[in-house]
Amino acid sequence: MQVLHVASELHPFSKTGGLADMVAALGKALAHAGHEVQLVTPLYRGIRNRHPDIHPAKWRFDVPMGTSLVAGEFWRLKVTPQLTIWFVDQPEFFDRAGLYNENQIDYPDNGARFLFLSKAALLLARHLPRPPQIIHLHDWPTGPVPLLLQHARAEGVWPNPPKTVFTIHNLAYQGWFPPTDWALTNLPTEWFHPNTAEAWGQFNFLKAGLSLADALTTVSPRYAQEICTPEYGCGLEGLLRRREYELTGILNGVDYEEWRTTNNPALKHAYDADHLAGKNANKRDLQEELGLPVRADIPLFAQISRLTGQKGSDLVLEAWEEIFTAGLEQQFVLLGSGDPVLQNGFRDLAARYPESVAVRVGFDPGLAQRIEAAADFFLMPSRFEPCGLNQLYSLRYGTVPIVRATGGLDDSVVDVRENVERATGIKFHEPTAAALAQAIRKAFALYREPDLLAHFRHNGMTADFSWEKQAREYVELYEQALHGV
Ligand code: ADP
Repeated sequence: MQVLHVASELHPFSKTGGLADMVAALGKALAHAGHEVQLVTPLYRGIRNRHPDIHPAKWRFDVPMGTSLVAGEFWRLKVTPQLTIWFVDQPEFFDRAGLYNENQIDYPDNGARFLFLSKAALLLARHLPRPPQIIHLHDWPTGPVPLLLQHARAEGVWPNPPKTVFTIHNLAYQGWFPPTDWALTNLPTEWFHPNTAEAWGQFNFLKAGLSLADALTTVSPRYAQEICTPEYGCGLEGLLRRREYELTGILNGVDYEEWRTTNNPALKHAYDADHLAGKNANKRDLQEELGLPVRADIPLFAQISRLTGQKGSDLVLEAWEEIFTAGLEQQFVLLGSGDPVLQNGFRDLAARYPESVAVRVGFDPGLAQRIEAAADFFLMPSRFEPCGLNQLYSLRYGTVPIVRATGGLDDSVVDVRENVERATGIKFHEPTAAALAQAIRKAFALYREPDLLAHFRHNGMTADFSWEKQAREYVELYEQALHGV
């Protein structure tokens, strides 16, 4: 099967979150299973320097954007005979310091930037010598693709176009743009209505994708159910309920070639489910690296995350106050960036408890690996979580996840109350600091029971969230989209 993915970020070239990991790993797994995979993504600043093996594809093109023509060029990386990455070069749009924003402020022309990406991807799809049968789209930046494609089909200019699959990685980010941006689509104004891309008078990119793609998916079965409710539907629950039968939840997998505790150049000490000495050594190293007292006898908690309300960062701050007040001895390491108020809150916590808390503000994939390998417990108190990847990485790294029972967290972590034999983590339900603090207290109890802790760790480390398995579900879905079964 020929599949073309379009995504606004792609590991290891560009990344702000799990989307980048997912698209890279799914593409790789599909190619590995023998499918012909093309990935289309922007050529952001710095990619060419860091990856000199990316070459011009000798393919320049012009895209109509309203009344102007905007020139672009494809660059290409042939990763394997089955897997090609196409980079869309348009320096005015993509040669910038950030992917979507700078200093927390979105670029004002994001509508134009990602419409350009969508149009370039369709141009590629139409003119490839072996055109794709499926175009797989990811999140709001690619929402215009099904819209543009349906219009081309309706006009008869693309009689038998590929089928489109649209994956929701996070419904909260919808790509809202002023209605004046519609002109950049070069589609007739009659096409701008509530059954396509219009929401409250605005041009909503995500809605365009969700209304017009042939099949919809999201990144966990539980989130697929949740987003059909007003609580989690972000205003699109009506549309999603109407399309409920075309919406499938498929849990993300892990690229175990990247996230591994043995033969991993990012980790100094290797370990596995039956040999945990290396994990203790990684803990000691991290304590040294971050200037914390080297202590094997107290639990090390960690969080690696965008600092936002979604991730429950505020709950973490409040819960630690309770834990400190109770005088429980522990260490906590945070790696993250985002909301400046939260950043300051964590910096302040570290300043007040320098013996217990280390905070690193920034985005550092190497440190993320070292933290996963060193920590005893990993906090994910998300208010909502489409899938979540860090809990999956934590499981493989023997780092017991403490999660709120929502979305993919609920689907991937087993609490002892659900199944004693298969328990892998600690779950709590209420999105409150008190509920999180109670879950953290359970972690202290678990830490005092080495045999039970070893049982949790062993279960987590041997659980299989490989992409090989998950990719088969996508292939089935592609088959259904193609053959209408
Ligand atoms: P989301 O996509 O909602 O941010 P996920 O858990 O699905 O959350 O994926 C987050 C990804 O980004 C993981 O690979 C995680 O390790 C990584 N990540 C998040 N914050 C940082 C950071 N500050 N430094 C390095 N990696 C980070």
